[in-house]
Amino acid sequence: MQVNEQETIIQGTPGSPGIAFGPVHVEARGFSAPDVYEISKDEIPVEQERFRQAMEKTKTELDQLRHHIEKLSGEEEGKIFDAHLMVLEDRTLLDRVNQAIVERRQNSEYAFYAVMQNFLEAMRRTNDSYLKERAADIDDVSQRVLRNFQHDDDRHKNNRPDHQHILVAYDLSPSDTASIDRKHVLGFATEQGSVNSHTAILARSLGIPAIVGLEGSVIDIQTLSDCILDGYTGKLILNPSAETVRIYQENSEQKKRARKELEKLREEKTTTTDGHRITLSANIEFTNELPLVKESGAEGVGLFRTEFYLLEGREMPGEIEQARVYTEVAESTRPNQAIIRTLDAGGDKIPAEPLAHPEPNPFLGWRGIRVSLTRKALFKEQLRAILRASAHGKLGIMFPMISGLREVLAAKEVVKRSMDELHKENIPFDPKIEIGVMIEIPSAAMMAGEIAREVDFFSIGTNDLIQYTVAVDRVNHYVAHLYKPTHPAVIRLMDITVRGAKDNGIWTGVCGEMAGDLAITPLLVGLGIDELSVSTYKLPSIKKAVRSLSQSECSEMMKEILRARSSPDIAALSENMAQLSYPELLD
Ligand code: PEP
Ligand code: MG
Repeated sequence: MQVNEQETIIQGTPGSPGIAFGPVHVEARGFSAPDVYEISKDEIPVEQERFRQAMEKTKTELDQLRHHIEKLSGEEEGKIFDAHLMVLEDRTLLDRVNQAIVERRQNSEYAFYAVMQNFLEAMRRTNDSYLKERAADIDDVSQRVLRNFQHDDDRHKNNRPDHQHILVAYDLSPSDTASIDRKHVLGFATEQGSVNSHTAILARSLGIPAIVGLEGSVIDIQTLSDCILDGYTGKLILNPSAETVRIYQENSEQKKRARKELEKLREEKTTTTDGHRITLSANIEFTNELPLVKESGAEGVGLFRTEFYLLEGREMPGEIEQARVYTEVAESTRPNQAIIRTLDAGGDKIPAEPLAHPEPNPFLGWRGIRVSLTRKALFKEQLRAILRASAHGKLGIMFPMISGLREVLAAKEVVKRSMDELHKENIPFDPKIEIGVMIEIPSAAMMAGEIAREVDFFSIGTNDLIQYTVAVDRVNHYVAHLYKPTHPAVIRLMDITVRGAKDNGIWTGVCGEMAGDLAITPLLVGLGIDELSVSTYKLPSIKKAVRSLSQSECSEMMKEILRARSSPDIAALSENMAQLSYPELLD
């Protein structure tokens, strides 16, 4: 590592633990240039054909989108795509790109990119507000076309380097994160985002060290500078001194040794010092995490977030393909349970389908069970797939974003219909499959008693429960300081939920990030939570923490917590107990 430049530390928020060393690669905002390469004379027609196909594909996509929007919202709304379609049919544009391929002997996506950039520059420089507005349409359609180029030779890659590096980006969407090339990206840091965004959650489950909400602008960081990314403290250290490198290398070794120690608990049960059993399960987003679930010593999967798998490709997988994946989860987790959460599209995740207008408030919009209950055919397809897989292991079905009883009844009705159909078709399934709901909206927590009579379990989604209780967008770093897991209102809602469940004889889990927070474990044990579901990375230390706590002491402390008036008071009570019980696990 090069150590001759000035060491600079940029602070951000720790997004995913781990330390990475390597050169930086910066991706700024906006649509970036595709790779450029020279083509031979013979390749000109091939490149022109690739360009034609990309345009055709984009046209088909936009046509479909327009039809879809017309069906949903009417003809007027569909017209917003006319401007986009006109761009694709513009003769001057087509001629210029084809000419650029011939004259410059460059690959077609780069020729297209260069021509579009020229157009855009010219439009942005005018004072005409109509033209300025159209620049946004052109920008949008250009990105679509660029995504639609067929890359069937290995000269084309995305423009990330093919050496190991630390990716520094303005922002990464959850789907960008899900498709990160693990061989080359050692860690990432983003200017946007916060610790409870799905981007950060995915980084944790993929085991990629990450920082979110970097201070300053990533444009000021130079590609190829050496750096250390510290996902524990949120520090991005550019051009680290030899001494800093040495300290970090030692630190990293020490952390690895501590993890090895924890691995010894793998086969042990998660039982408090006074014999209270808690089920400790894992959160997963991809089936390739299943071996890690086993290695971590988890007793099942408490949350399989299916949206990343379902929405990752261009088309949603059908019933049989989904059933194959859920069967893989069931078989790998057997005899323990795996809880499959139905599609939770929307919010900061991938939308279920393209929308005519961006939602003004996606977190308060068309998300989770709201999508499933308006797209019943898709919902039923997923339910039938889960039910088919339930013949191969112990599965549970869980509905996200439940806000009240009616949604629970409506969702259960679709489960019942799916069961009836499978029964008639002689397809085996587990008729006793557990059905549960996420409690992540305050209105559902308040109705816990009523909802509990209709389901087999609750899983508290604290990530959303916090955001909806204190009205703080979980991905907005401007208000991240107000996002308080220990806010008294959040804890009281959790208490109402647990009591509602216990009164009706059902169990309660916690699958939000709070379940993996060592400082909060005493509070969760005190609340009487039956199951904790955490990322596999966190699981061994949470097991050790629970095994160091006494349930009766924690529930005694809980009485005080439920009387507390502020978040710091609650945090202090739980943290003190954690300090006393397992100081070696806390940083
Ligand atoms: C939650 O909200 O706590 C949760 C586990 O669901 P997600 O993070 O996927 O919204
Ligand atoms: Mg949620």
